[in-house]
Amino acid sequence: MTIAFIGLGSNIKLPKQQIKSAIKSIEGIALTQVLKVSSLYKSKPIGPQNQNDYINAVAKIDTDLMPLELLECMQDIENQQGRIRKEHWGPRTLDLDILMFGEEIIKDDKLTIPHAEIENRSFVLAPLAEIDPNCLIPDKGMARDLLAIIGQEDLEIIR
Ligand code: ADP
Ligand code: MG
Repeated sequence: MTIAFIGLGSNIKLPKQQIKSAIKSIEGIALTQVLKVSSLYKSKPIGPQNQNDYINAVAKIDTDLMPLELLECMQDIENQQGRIRKEHWGPRTLDLDILMFGEEIIKDDKLTIPHAEIENRSFVLAPLAEIDPNCLIPDKGMARDLLAIIGQEDLEIIR
């Protein structure tokens, strides 16, 4: 079993529902359990600014899948929820990123783990630190320390 963390994001078509429905789908993946889900966070878009704010969350899971198998499951769920890939960083119904996969460090065509932008994104670090206060990101550092460096003034926690 490997502990992994999934970052969820959505900014169109009822984002909160998209996140909830994605969590249900993740619960249905073979050989995988959802252990914890963070609060929802509201964040400003990266890249093109003429789009809605995002709703983000992080889920902690336990899985017997291999990293690429998990990636395929994530992409299936994105597609089921109507993800259409147009412009880079453009609006999306659902984005599911594998943030961490155990202590693995992976750099290949399809997969970079830990996620390449993890230390630059408060909407990932804040929910990570919320559900796992001692979360240590391989090669990068503690989620809470990285969050302290970039700050989280741009984030709103949704209760
Ligand atoms: P982004 O998440 O950067 O907005 P996409 O969701 O469109 O971009 O993903 C583009 C590609 O990123 C995917 O086809 C996948 O192969 C690759 N990728 C690399 N590392 C990861 C990761 N850790 N989690 C999810 N996708 C990843
Ligand atoms: Mg993605």
